[in-house]
Parts: sequence; C-alpha cells; structure tokens
Amino acid sequence: MPETLEQSAGRFDTVLIANRGEIAVRIQRACRELGLKTVAICSEADRQAPYGKTADSFLCIGPSTAAKSYLNQDAILLAARLAGAGAIHPGYGFLSENAAFADAVEKAGLVFIGPTASSIAIMGDKISAKRAMMAAGVPCVPGPDTALPDDPATIERIALEIGYPVIIKAAGGGGGRGMRVVPKADVLHEAIALTREEARKAFGSRSLYMEKFLEHPRHIEIQVICDDHGNAVWLGHRDCSMQRRHQKVVEEAPAPGIAPDIIQPVGLACVQACLQIGYRGVGTFEFLYEDGAFYFIEMNTRLQVEHPVTEMTSGVDIVQAQIRAAQGHVLDLIQGDVTCEGHSFECRINAEDPGTFLPSAGVVTHLALPEGPGIRVDTHIHAGYKVSPYYDSLIAKLIVHAPTRAEAMARMREALAGTEIEGISTNISFLRALFEDGPFAQGETDIHYLEQWLKLRRAA
Ligand code: ADP
Repeated sequence: MPETLEQSAGRFDTVLIANRGEIAVRIQRACRELGLKTVAICSEADRQAPYGKTADSFLCIGPSTAAKSYLNQDAILLAARLAGAGAIHPGYGFLSENAAFADAVEKAGLVFIGPTASSIAIMGDKISAKRAMMAAGVPCVPGPDTALPDDPATIERIALEIGYPVIIKAAGGGGGRGMRVVPKADVLHEAIALTREEARKAFGSRSLYMEKFLEHPRHIEIQVICDDHGNAVWLGHRDCSMQRRHQKVVEEAPAPGIAPDIIQPVGLACVQACLQIGYRGVGTFEFLYEDGAFYFIEMNTRLQVEHPVTEMTSGVDIVQAQIRAAQGHVLDLIQGDVTCEGHSFECRINAEDPGTFLPSAGVVTHLALPEGPGIRVDTHIHAGYKVSPYYDSLIAKLIVHAPTRAEAMARMREALAGTEIEGISTNISFLRALFEDGPFAQGETDIHYLEQWLKLRRAA
C-alpha cells in the first residue's frame, strides 16, 4: 500500500545544503535544532568556509566558478548520494528556483526542500504567474497576461491601451535584470528590441510582456507557508522599497502605514492562490503598492534573504517550518495564531565600495559585531575570512527588533555603530547615513527614493 503523507513525515534525517555564505549557516542551524544531520558543500574558493567545520559532512564539489560548483546539478546530486543525504535545501539564488533541478532531486529519490517543480515552473515564468494570480483573484499590475507578439502595430496598440509610461519585462527575468521603462511611444520599439536581446542572452527566452509602469509605488511583500495537506497561512508583510538598481538594500516588517483592513484581503488572496496551485513550503508574493492599491508583480518560490524580519515579528522560525513542511508534517499553526509583534529592520551588509558600489574582495582583518537585546546578525564571516570575488557581495545581515518602528530605527543605528569590518570595503557607512535620513524615518518612502537620495548625496 502506498504510504500516506503523514506516514512519510520525517522521511529524511540528513539534509544537503546546496548553497554557501550566510544562508548555509542559517539552514545548518535550523537543521541541527530539528535534530537533522547536515552535509555542507563548497567550491574550491570556499574550502575554508566555517560552516564546513560545523556540518556532519563537508564535500568540495568543484571549481570556484559557480557554474562548475553551486550550479552543477550532477555534482550536487552525487555529493548527496555519497554523503547519504535524504533531502536537499537549495537556499536562495543558485538552483533554488530551478524547476529542472527540483525535478532531478525528486527523481533521484531525494526530497527537494521547496515547492514542486511544476509550482516553480508556473511562478518562474512571470507571464504564467500573472495568469495564475489573476485566476486566484490576486490584483495584478494593469497589462495583458500574455507574451508580446512580434507584430509592431499590435505592440503599439497594447502600449496605448495600458497608457504610457509602460515597463517591458522578460518573462524569465530575475535579479532586477531584463526590465526597461518606456516613457513614450517614440522609444517603444527600440526598448523592445534591446530587452528581447537581453532576455535571450541572460534567460534563454526572448519572451517579453508589458505592463503599466507605476511611478511612485512601494514594494510590499507577503510571506506564506504551506504544507502538503491543504493548509496555508500568511505570516504578515514586509516593505522592501529601499532598493538600488531594483536590488533590496534595507527591509522591514511590518510595512509601515498599511491599515490591516487593506492588507488582509491581499494576504488571504495569496493563501487562496497557494491552495489553488497546490503550493508547498515557503514563498513570497511581491506587490507594488500605490495610492492604496496592491498590484502583484511576482512570486518567489523559495526562502528570501529578508525572511528574518518576518521571523522577528511573527516569532515563527521560517526555515524550520519550511523543512518540516518538506518532511510532510502538518503545519503547526493556523491563521488565527499568526501575530505581528513590534517592528524589525534588516540591513544587507555587502563587501562593496560605499561610493561606487563595486564589489570588494580581500581578507577581513578585523571584525566586531554588535550585541544586545533585539539584535541579530546572520553571517558566515570572521576575522581572517577571505571574501572571494566569485559570488554575491552579501557578507552579513544585521537584523533588529524593537516594540516600535522608531525604536527599531534607533536600535539599528546603535547596531550599525557597533559593526566594524576592516580589510575590505563595505557599505556600512552608507547604511549609517541612510538611518539618519528624515523622510526614511517617517516611513512610506517609494522604490525610487534611495536612488534619488544617492543622487543628491553625490551632488552635495
Ligand atoms: P525581479 O524578478 O528581477 O526581482 P520584479 O518583477 O520583482 O523583478 O521587479 C523588481 C523591481 O522592479 C520591483 O521591486 C520594482 O522596484 C521594479 N518594478 C517592477 N515592475 C514594475 C512596474 N510595473 N512599475 C514600476 N516598477 C516596477
């Protein structure tokens, strides 16, 4: 007789973490707390990684270039087999939203700690995601839920119907790339040609779509968690409007100034969408918010960098909940249990020049991290750690929690003042200045605010 999901609950006891850096440390901690063994993997550049020493097994799977190590599916599957792992946690980035990898993991008889390959595939294509969300009653940015045709006259008509300015986006885009704003008709075709070419090169698909470009929105997202038994909850909202080049720099929970009766139906629609597509594990619905209305832009089918701010306000260990869902356990919380206590901020500390934002590799010669009530640091670095030029520049996440937003801001100022990293350049001085900014302290700044702030600072 085939086993039921409950019978299969707890069906793995060893997890291979197919990632590096701070998130490898974070996942390892969650696994240990759940009594699970861990397998760490690394590239040649990460051989000295501290999380290698604390894992039950540690395997080097390839050269420093990510394509030959952290993105090498065969090498990861082989490592899992050699180390006796029963599940693979992909973290974020790398293979975390790769449907083919999720499928290969399951075909190898292992558990992919994430949604099914088909959920990833639906949500990975921004056009099919938009279609699924519209069907579930989630509000979307005005614009068709179909790919742009090649015919220039039809494209012009679509743009006129939406109304300028519009934004052209690659269906397979991600990481803030493959997007172009079109302010008026005379640059439409040039923008389409450029974005198509970019999309083909970067994402292997020339499929594009068009939607209204919202001029002063905030970026607000909703965290969900679902089990395999038809249960789903949303854990509140975050504001990630502080962006540079469409990349988040500071995140907070809850999003300030959003009345519960406005966000409530959106959260419930997200839960409904999850149930409709049979979603499993953690996920994030990203919205733009303008003039009191929410517009869905995309879903991330993985753990987010900014998950800690929701952990701080909801009290839920999102990584543990994700692993338990993958084990087949019934969600141990219902919507009525979910609360939001206080306010939390996260600063992404990057190894980069605070003026030019160019990555900065090298050895950390001195490290002092802040401590105290309501302060959390998620990091993999230590004094003597060598920041390699091969990967993302994120080296630490500074997270604070306090009863109110103003107190959380003050706590972040204090935490940033107590953070010292020498030997490499970091964006700490830039973050310190940002937390002194008046309009940011007031809250409700839009997604363009940070770029404008940087421009003014450069001009001064
Ligand atoms: P990615 O998958 O590359 O992160 P998203 O669709 O999530 O792309 O968009 C990233 C960012 O781009 C958003 O947070 C927002 O700042 C901006 N953006 C996306 N769509 C629009 C839009 N329709 N109008 C205005 N800004 C947008």
